[in-house]
Amino acid sequence: MKWTLYIKVRLLVIGILLMVMIVELGMVVALGNQSTARFVNNVEVSTDLLAKAMNTVFNDVNQTLNYIEVELSSQSSSNPDYTSHLMNAAKSREEILNIYIGYEDRTFWLYPETEIEAEFDVTERIWFQGAYVTDGVFWSVPYVDKATGKSIISASKYIELEDRDGVIGIDISLETLSEMIETVNDEGWVMILHQGIIIASTEKSFLTRKFEDLEDKVITKNTPYYGTFLKGDGLYVARRIPGVDLLTLVFIPEELVYGNRRQILTIGGLVTLLLTLIALVTSHFIIRKFTMPISKLKDALVESSLQTRMVGLNEVTNDEINVLIKEYNNLAEHINNQNKRIYTLAYEDELTGLVNRYKFREECLTRIQNKQSTTLFHLDIDNFKYVNDTYGHEIGDKVLKHIADRLLSFKASSEAIARISGDEFVLTINGCDDECCRRISSQLISSLSRPYFINQLSLQLTVSIGIASYPRDANNYDDLLANAEIALYKAKESGKDCFVNFEQVLYKEFLNDIDIETRLIKAIAMKEINPAFQPLVEIETKRIVGFEALARWTDRERGPIYPDVFIPIAERNMSIIPLGWHILDQALKFGKELYDTRGTYYEVGVNVSVIQLTDDRFVDGVFAMLEKYDYPAKYLNLEITESTTLESNEDSMMKLAYLRKKDVNISLDDFGTGYSSLGHLTDLSLSHIKIDRLLVIKAKQSDEVFTLMEGIVGFAHKIGTVVVAEGIEDMDMEEMVYAMNADFGQGYLYGKPMTRADFMYFLDAGIPRTDNHL
Ligand code: C2E
Ligand code: CA
Ligand code: CA
Repeated sequence: MKWTLYIKVRLLVIGILLMVMIVELGMVVALGNQSTARFVNNVEVSTDLLAKAMNTVFNDVNQTLNYIEVELSSQSSSNPDYTSHLMNAAKSREEILNIYIGYEDRTFWLYPETEIEAEFDVTERIWFQGAYVTDGVFWSVPYVDKATGKSIISASKYIELEDRDGVIGIDISLETLSEMIETVNDEGWVMILHQGIIIASTEKSFLTRKFEDLEDKVITKNTPYYGTFLKGDGLYVARRIPGVDLLTLVFIPEELVYGNRRQILTIGGLVTLLLTLIALVTSHFIIRKFTMPISKLKDALVESSLQTRMVGLNEVTNDEINVLIKEYNNLAEHINNQNKRIYTLAYEDELTGLVNRYKFREECLTRIQNKQSTTLFHLDIDNFKYVNDTYGHEIGDKVLKHIADRLLSFKASSEAIARISGDEFVLTINGCDDECCRRISSQLISSLSRPYFINQLSLQLTVSIGIASYPRDANNYDDLLANAEIALYKAKESGKDCFVNFEQVLYKEFLNDIDIETRLIKAIAMKEINPAFQPLVEIETKRIVGFEALARWTDRERGPIYPDVFIPIAERNMSIIPLGWHILDQALKFGKELYDTRGTYYEVGVNVSVIQLTDDRFVDGVFAMLEKYDYPAKYLNLEITESTTLESNEDSMMKLAYLRKKDVNISLDDFGTGYSSLGHLTDLSLSHIKIDRLLVIKAKQSDEVFTLMEGIVGFAHKIGTVVVAEGIEDMDMEEMVYAMNADFGQGYLYGKPMTRADFMYFLDAGIPRTDNHL
């Protein structure tokens, strides 16, 4: 059993109630006893009164006898009028049944007059004989009057008249006597005893019987004759009637004596019981009123421990408990807020208000568990780093918020939208088929490509999307996300600003890329990637004026891997930075070697990736390298692609401008492939532009392109920029680029990328070593 507060308080209250009850019962018993005492007292008083009344009756009988005696003595006639005397006397009291006078000569007068038998001898009557031997009044024992058949007792008195002696007597009807005492007490039996014989009784059947013989009654033989006795069987109150040998006895049986007390006890007990019941019921409610809020508080705490949030309580009373509940509610609210904050930290992306990767994962897991087909769109903002680097993180954050807001417009069709890292967002759509994927992707791309207006800036961005579907492309969440990422990777590789649906072949490509990447990192560390050198030729004189260093890598197992494959990977994982230094180092070393052996400074062309420009040590590193080989800056040519100028931030551009100012040449590589813009020529004060092989081919095929190219070359020359034509494979091409006034040429016609030794052989022999290119 659990000793709850309620039970404890309840027991306490019951204990107190029990004590009160005991005290109360004691009082009731006392009250009962008091009532018994009062009852006994009342009986005593009424018995005393009865005794006095009986005394009066018997005294009156005496007086009547005396009166008759006096009357008769005063008459002194020989024949007095007995009859009228007796009659007068008889009328004075109703209990007098007969009055009579008898003489020794057996003469007898009787009132009321009745016929007397012939053989009636008055001298033989008990009352006659008794009176003769008694001084005063003789009271007979009860006997039956022959004439009337009534039980009677008689009082007789000896009288001495002038002429003769006789006896006067009075018969008293016991019935009348009994009627007289009937009014004394309602309860029990009232009796008058004469020498132990009952001569009057409220119970008629007791008459003339000896009191001791009342065996059938509770009255015992030992009942004393005088006093008040409260015994086991009842109450006895006995009083002598003074002057006569008579006793008044009142007996009241036990149940009557204690009846009152019992009644008091019963009523008292009932009242106590009732009060107790009322007290218990009211105490129950009162205690509950106090313990309920506390047990509710307890329940709330227990419940809270099972839930993630604290349960609130209603305020119930207006006292300290309410203060407690208020405090509890404050605490609960505080904890709930904390929990909410913890939840927010754990499940929400603080910056955008979207859910975070953990919550997103949970939601996807639920759907996968329910075997619901789901398509995951993995978005990555193209070149977002550029925004951060150029405008700062504050603007970058604002852009991300705007992107999140735009994504929220897809909320109706999507199940979950989350930001999972920096500029990566994911959203899922249930049951999205190929057509749906295309539609949603296009909508996403066009929505996110609209300009962002932030702090008076107008920014334009593009997004790449990778898509994978459960269960088609993956059977668990991790694979689903990974495959969407592979598709995204492909989208990035395919030139960004597009979406790619996951396919198993992409996964193979991805694994291949990973394999290459692992080998690449090792190869760079082991300096296994080294440059080949492709001659740079002055078209007019066909003189070799320099070379371009082109990275070459032959994997032991996979064989030669081309720069178009590994350079983008090296850019992605930043290993292009150490690789870049190594290539620059090797290129300048070769330049220095040529100078040392031939006394001529050759133009050293080195490709520089946009990633290398973000390196803080880039500018200092370049000068350190020039110093290392004591190579003049004006013979170094850093080749940057057009896309570099777009992807680079201001800082990178400043670095290039600084290098340019310090006489380092900057070439715009691959001119004509992507975003050909003449603006770059002026902006960067480039020293060279390198017309891409494909544009050269186009110019050869189309007169218009040729004319355009001619114009561009003219413009370049006007601003002091040297023009290099790439991909010169034959004399026709050489002729054409010469016709458009290009200054230098590079291509298989002059020489393929080759080893140091081959390059030197080429320089010395004037012709390249056949089929020995790299
Ligand atoms: P690129 O800078 O345009 O280099 C010229 C590419 O054209 C080289 O390819 C070269 O072998 C090829 N080529 C030269 N003449 C001809 C020709 O007459 N016909 C044809 N069909 N191709 C010719 P490669 O060596 O595969 O390099 C590809 C690209 O890789 C380079 O293009 C350059 O952007 C990049 N790259 C190579 N080495 C490095 C490096 O060390 N650092 C960086 N950042 N990029 C490099
Ligand atoms: Ca180049
Ligand atoms: Ca090029």
